[in-house]
Amino acid sequence: MKKKLALLLAGLMTIAMVTGCGAGEEPTTGSDAGTGITEESSSAEESSTEESSSEATEEGSAEASVEIEFGADTQAIIDRGVLYVGVKNAVPGFGLQDTLTGEYSGMEIDIARKIAEYLGVEVEFTTVTAATRTELLDSGDIDCVLATFTITDERKESWDFTTPYYTDAVTVLVEDASGITSLEGLVDKKVGVSSGSTSARALTAAMIEAGLIDGTGYDKDTFDAATWTTGVSYQQYEDYPAISTALSAGEVDAFCVDKSILAIYKTEGRSYIEEKFSPQEYGIATRKGSDFSALCDELVNTWLNDGTIDGFIDTYGLN
Ligand code: GLU
Repeated sequence: MKKKLALLLAGLMTIAMVTGCGAGEEPTTGSDAGTGITEESSSAEESSTEESSSEATEEGSAEASVEIEFGADTQAIIDRGVLYVGVKNAVPGFGLQDTLTGEYSGMEIDIARKIAEYLGVEVEFTTVTAATRTELLDSGDIDCVLATFTITDERKESWDFTTPYYTDAVTVLVEDASGITSLEGLVDKKVGVSSGSTSARALTAAMIEAGLIDGTGYDKDTFDAATWTTGVSYQQYEDYPAISTALSAGEVDAFCVDKSILAIYKTEGRSYIEEKFSPQEYGIATRKGSDFSALCDELVNTWLNDGTIDGFIDTYGLN
């Protein structure tokens, strides 16, 4: 595994010297206070840990590893000994935190652990929301975001994204009692969305495309959920539990976001509308121009090609 990655990375970086550090080591999990928002101190046996250690054994030994000369941003993470990752805490299969143990699980957690393992550092998770993930990245509190973060052209102007590791679609959750079953039923309704998300724009575009609302004045580049009122309107919230509560209270008629995120809020008496729309490609986001971006992309491509990511998708039943 390590050799394969080293070869792949050779185009980007210079192999400098042989030491006992780097990929192939077992990941250790973080307990540094760090940002202090949330953290994980895990001693549990994770499947990714087991896979990685068996790979290291197959290769011979973890000691005979090659150290790669990383760029300054990546080296700073290695010197610090901890990779700080922004993740979701309530998206089953992606980033879910056990409320009792504090342990995180999901494919985004496993990918983050594998990156930390590759670097030979610990990993510490910080729970982020659609509204907070970019400011935590910009401030340097976290090194990367693995949090159902959709790659868009607009976002690519501010942050680097890897090749997508998963594609989801947007849909809408309603109370059965509302009688709404399709996009058509959302005409002139108020929909709850998260601030900092793609959801309102995606729903508006889908309703325009379906011929349900007039697209005059719609511009995907300047769209603003706060001011859009043609045929549908939006109420923005800081997090998803708040939207779920607003839906129960009748403050909004519907709750719109990626289907993977909605799953945990689809309780009895609630249903998805018929349509799914606007494919959302999730990528790892890093600070723009950071050398860590290129490394993350290389790793994601490696794990897309070798079946690792498909394995996570199977493990978490995401296909
Ligand atoms: N994936 C969508 C986005 O990036 C929905 C928001 C979220 O990830 O919470 O905007």
